[in-house]
Amino acid sequence: MTHAVHSKSNEALWETDRAHALHPWTNFGPFEEKGALVISRGEGCYLWDAEGRKYFDAVGGLWCTNIGLGRREMADAIADQAMKLGFSNTFVDMTNDPSARLAGKIAEIAPGDLNRVMFTTGGSTAIDTAVRMVAYYQHARGYPQKTDVVARDYSYHGSTYLAQSVGKRPGDRVEEFRYKTEGIHHLSCPNPYRRPAHLSEAEFCDDLIAEFEALIARVGADRIGGFIAEPIQASGGIIIPPEGYLKRMWEICQRHEILFIADEVVTGFGRLGHWFAALDEFGVQPDVICSAKGLTSGYQPLGAMILSDRVWDVMAEGGNRWFTAGFTYSGHPVACAAALKNIEIMEREDLLAHVREIGPYFQRRLGELEALPLVGNVRGRGLMLCVENVADKTTKAVLPDEANESKRISDLAEEMGLMVRPMGHLNVMSPPLIVTKDEIDFVAETLEKAIRKVIDGLVREGYRIG
Ligand code: PLP
Repeated sequence: MTHAVHSKSNEALWETDRAHALHPWTNFGPFEEKGALVISRGEGCYLWDAEGRKYFDAVGGLWCTNIGLGRREMADAIADQAMKLGFSNTFVDMTNDPSARLAGKIAEIAPGDLNRVMFTTGGSTAIDTAVRMVAYYQHARGYPQKTDVVARDYSYHGSTYLAQSVGKRPGDRVEEFRYKTEGIHHLSCPNPYRRPAHLSEAEFCDDLIAEFEALIARVGADRIGGFIAEPIQASGGIIIPPEGYLKRMWEICQRHEILFIADEVVTGFGRLGHWFAALDEFGVQPDVICSAKGLTSGYQPLGAMILSDRVWDVMAEGGNRWFTAGFTYSGHPVACAAALKNIEIMEREDLLAHVREIGPYFQRRLGELEALPLVGNVRGRGLMLCVENVADKTTKAVLPDEANESKRISDLAEEMGLMVRPMGHLNVMSPPLIVTKDEIDFVAETLEKAIRKVIDGLVREGYRIG
């Protein structure tokens, strides 16, 4: 991306950022050379940069601008709450109107007996709290040793020390950082596209289940307290597990009294056409759901750990026990007011039904890209999807990293007014839930043009594709 900066004021902004900001996931070399694209305005599914260029944001912010940007009622709800009560803490025995009402609303829309809500500052802090809560809960049950957690390779659960230790995307594990390893176990990623060639999808699923059972046998059910899973692994590459996998993993958890924590930071709030996906898409009733992102559609930072009554009852048993976790901004009244308005809009516009209707069109239309020689696999569900680029469709071998094809594709798409997210050999999309068929056509057509151009360039440079 060239990030052309034309006017003086924009150049000053770009330079100030380049000189002073450390961005999440900064890649130092390219950042010092090219800086960052300055975004100045957003409306619906569209963004405008500081130069006034318009983009269709197929990234959806970062899996989060679910109701779309620039909603007057969201701005009003946020402003009204900021005037009425800009802050009040929710520690110990304090609360505020929006926080109390939002907890009640979440209990209403969450599956089964998930009726207890702890607010956090975002997804990572919800995960961090949930992982700590596993030990708390098991200790309260009389199993103080049952504190280990099990997660999967290629999972992404956030960026606190604990959340990133539980997650395990290879690219995130840089040698400069340290990660907690004690008490954290990782199972194979349930990626059907990359399964061993000699296995059917059903056999692959059996192996994954056997792997979990073997781990429990090895470590001991008396030591494993929680299992954490994104129903569809998002940042790990839109991994849709084999049929029946999640349900079987859940059944194993139930058998061994292991808490099932569904990380629905991405899959919640409509991305798959439901408030939450674990039960409605996969038939799993989790003990805990972690949520963020679509909870406010990104208008305010907010996360939530949603607990079942059963878990609460164990934690609360005996009465005089303290749950020493939480944040200054837990239950922030302005963030909770934004979430309440966001949910009201989603209900009024029936956005869940819209996603259930338009999701298959999105998948089908983008799926046509599989006809291109570079595209090995297009996979997704609802309004989350990725295009996986390969050098060879039969062997599924990828291009060498220096080919940088997914970044080239996203850069070219950006020049054509479309934002998609490059991630390893993938281009990832999660558009706002209000996306229309015409806009999906635009995404598919623009992406096709970008991919074709990149193929031409790669072939000219001597790469073999196809
Ligand atoms: N869990 C999942 C599945 C995510 O995708 C993310 C962020 O992308 C997180 C947790 C962390 O959320 P946050 O960045 O709000 O801390």
